Amino acid sequence: MRATGRALNGLPSNHIYDAVIVGGSVAGSAVAMALAKRGMDVLLCEPGLASHKLLAGELLQAPAAKALIDLGFMDAAWSAGAVASCGIVVVAPDLKAPVVLPYATVPGLHPSGVAIEHATLAAVMLARTSRRRGVTFVAARAQALQDLHGEQAASVELCDDAGSRRVQGRVIIAADGKQSRMRQAAGISIDKGPNVRMCGLKIAGTLPCEGFGHVFLGGRRPVLAYRISGDEIHVVFELAGDTGGVDPRDLDMLPLEVRRRVCDVIARGELSTAVINAMTPHARAKGRLALIGDAGGTVHPISASGVSFALTDALCLAGAMTAHYGDHQCALDVYAREREQPMRTRSVLGEALAETLAGESEAMHALREGLLHYWIDDPANRAASIGLLSTHDGRPAALAKEYGKVALKTIGQLRGRGASWSDTARVGLALGKKALAIARR
Ligand SMILES: Cc1cc2nc3c(=O)[nH]c(=O)nc-3n(C[C@H](O)[C@H](O)[C@H](O)COP(=O)(O)OP(=O)(O)OC[C@H]3O[C@@H](n4cnc5c(N)ncnc54)[C@H](O)[C@@H]3O)c2cc1C
Repeated sequence: MRATGRALNGLPSNHIYDAVIVGGSVAGSAVAMALAKRGMDVLLCEPGLASHKLLAGELLQAPAAKALIDLGFMDAAWSAGAVASCGIVVVAPDLKAPVVLPYATVPGLHPSGVAIEHATLAAVMLARTSRRRGVTFVAARAQALQDLHGEQAASVELCDDAGSRRVQGRVIIAADGKQSRMRQAAGISIDKGPNVRMCGLKIAGTLPCEGFGHVFLGGRRPVLAYRISGDEIHVVFELAGDTGGVDPRDLDMLPLEVRRRVCDVIARGELSTAVINAMTPHARAKGRLALIGDAGGTVHPISASGVSFALTDALCLAGAMTAHYGDHQCALDVYAREREQPMRTRSVLGEALAETLAGESEAMHALREGLLHYWIDDPANRAASIGLLSTHDGRPAALAKEYGKVALKTIGQLRGRGASWSDTARVGLALGKKALAIARR
């Protein structure tokens, strides 16, 4: 099913929409659907989804699955080949058995996530949204933002092959991805982290714990692998430096059959690559503009949290706009406030997790081991971790507490293994500083 759109020159003149939504991928379609379901009149513009986008959100954690159900997209996702994913499983050479972190153990969290090819999910969501009563869809690109603080509305300049047109919205929603043109036009600056190069490829076969997303540890960087359809598994590596390829140490961590298939695909050159960096805007809303999804911030992809966060943004913004209909300022303030702490938790977690799972310092080696033991020890620890990782628990204090507990476990482990007091003190000091930095952010 394809999205059905109106021509720009067929739009009514001088009409003010409740919202003009820029970008019709997962975040934009979700917010358009959520607002239309609440009786609002929205214009959604998307110049053309990237059908080749292999490297993007495909392992959707439980909050994303719940949002897809609530918004009425899930049946279409199943029909398009989505598969259920019950949590994350961590496989490491020192572990006797994989460590399973299931969603079902977290109070209040939907028991299952979902995995699906990203381009397929985005197409399914846009097609359904474009047909929804209350949504006007145009296959157009937004090129300028005006009247950000307008008394009645702000305007967006849209263009398609036939020309350009100005449309007005009480609220403008930037769902136009990490490079967001709307965010730039509003003068919202960003903090940007270092580049991370990723590569992904698809193989057939089976994974050790089918029904879960896999994280393979023990190489240079963690490797992610998850089933995205009945017959395809997606394997994602972080590449070495600015130019390097897949590190052989990462390949060594994969089960033999998976490794063999991955090597065949690499030899054929059938890989997709992407450069990603964590990015935090200095505001989530300004004037009549709200940022959602990647436009509102990105984190290290190891957390696989982008789509869950984008869909929760959409639901949160739609809820605030409904509760404060007619008062855009209040609605956007509420939205920005509600998403501030979860975004902070998500960025700090992404950074801390990437460092813990791949850091080469003595302290990070010890912390990695401590984390695995922390998980093995107690199902409640695993539940707390997957609650944070899935974005269900967005409290910075919960993250700081978990980090502190893992650091203490690590120190206990070192002592238990007979490490000297001086080695233990050195690692303890390094971890103490990290825990403090996390608590302060
Ligand atoms: C390598 C990699 C792996 C990832 N893995 C995961 C994962 O496993 N799980 C997960 O949950 N997340 C993952 N993510 C993150 C996830 O892909 C994103 O968070 C999610 O796709 C963001 O959706 P979005 O709708 O905000 O932005 P996008 O998907 O970037 O969509 C933005 C849309 O806006 C449109 N647009 C842009 N400019 C304009 C304009 N001027 N006018 C109109 N439209 C415009 C674009 O055409 C596009 O369709 C991963 C990301 C990467 C890069």
